[in-house]
Amino acid sequence: MAEKPAAIIERFPGRAAQVCIMPGCGGIFGLNERVYVCPKCSGPLEIECKPPEGVLVSALRARWDARAVSQEPQDRSGVWRYRELLPFDEGVRCVTLFEGNTPLYEAPRCAQYARIDSLRLKHQGCSPTGSFKDTGMTVAVTQALALGARTVVCASTGNTAASLAAYAARAGLQAAILLPRGQITASKLAQSMDYGAAVFELDGNFDDCMRLIQELGSEPSIYVANSINPFRIEGQKTVAFELMMQLGWRVPDQIVVPGGNMGNSSALGKGFDEMLALGLIDRTPKLNIIQAEGTAPLATLFAALDVKDATAAAQLPEMALLAVEHPRTLATAIKIGAPVSWRKSLRAVLRTGGQIISISEQEIADAKAMIGRDGIGCEPASATTVAGIRRLAASGHIRRGESVVAVLTGHVLKDPDYVSQYHHGTLSLETDGAPIKIAGTFANVPQRVAANKTALLQQLEARR
Ligand SMILES: [Zn+2]
Repeated sequence: MAEKPAAIIERFPGRAAQVCIMPGCGGIFGLNERVYVCPKCSGPLEIECKPPEGVLVSALRARWDARAVSQEPQDRSGVWRYRELLPFDEGVRCVTLFEGNTPLYEAPRCAQYARIDSLRLKHQGCSPTGSFKDTGMTVAVTQALALGARTVVCASTGNTAASLAAYAARAGLQAAILLPRGQITASKLAQSMDYGAAVFELDGNFDDCMRLIQELGSEPSIYVANSINPFRIEGQKTVAFELMMQLGWRVPDQIVVPGGNMGNSSALGKGFDEMLALGLIDRTPKLNIIQAEGTAPLATLFAALDVKDATAAAQLPEMALLAVEHPRTLATAIKIGAPVSWRKSLRAVLRTGGQIISISEQEIADAKAMIGRDGIGCEPASATTVAGIRRLAASGHIRRGESVVAVLTGHVLKDPDYVSQYHHGTLSLETDGAPIKIAGTFANVPQRVAANKTALLQQLEARR
């Protein structure tokens, strides 16, 4: 690749700014302005960073390689290692639990199941709190600290709450988690409780929680770390940088991610765009998003688009997403009917020529068991990827010999009940009518056996 100095954008003074993504709006706001959406048009904001001036691509790569083996806290973090492309000045006090640094696994059984030659799984569940949220939360909580906030808040029952609680504890900040009363499951909140967060049960529904969060956001001492927060995307985009280092800077053909609130896909799209602009890579992979059938608003919108029409991307401002009012899936991490970051992720999919599809609960469950057979545990939402790859390979969008990377988002121990019920054949999804029963296609149940060696050896032989 030809060496070239980093391109400099001169749309604003300083090193970085918060920019409205809606074409024609032009809203640009300083990093220290506490805005979570565009004050001009209510559109989503994203952060634009000017890359370091005059740094050559090879020098940047060498710097990152050196940090990967350094013992300095900022270098050991798989997010802050890439600080040239983050919106902070040198010397910022970063709040880190050494997030990132997640493994990239070969998954031969999954590849065979999906009918492709090879498949690699980037496991973001192997992170401090067991989900991909940590790479974003390290940046959001660092920003909260830089702004002088005393409390960080979010409305979530799951991975976001756990991650926020951990990073707030690390920073010495108060964490507040708002939830509708009666909808709290102890297992999901256990982590947040352990990390010392203040958990509030409100008399109201989830929308009331979101409204309150927005109202709280105007208090100078409170910082909102919900999904709309653009600083979280900055942290999550570094997954793309780390992946490219692990692949020796050989760009994969296809990236496949689960689609819930769409922060993950938006962030990956941004990470690859930035590397392309800098000349770190010379093309971007196709970005594909997989949703669960019972909560697939973006897949529905995508199916109605003529993606071959070059103007599809330009129509983004006029597009409207029809929210799913009663989202249904056992993959709770992606059970989101109105994803906040859908515009950013759709833009990335359209730019790269990817696909957005939805798959059934049965496909998710079977793919999850298959990932397990490769010795890799994940939460149900993560398994949408392997199920989606199987579909995309069958439809010809993914070709057999292409290089494919799927991003797993959560650890297997995030939802042990699901795993146990699948293998016992008792997994089912409640609906308005009869529940949908999930078959234990690849079930593996404990066996009763007499307490003697011969009986055990016989059983082992039978199962070989
Ligand atoms: Zn705007």
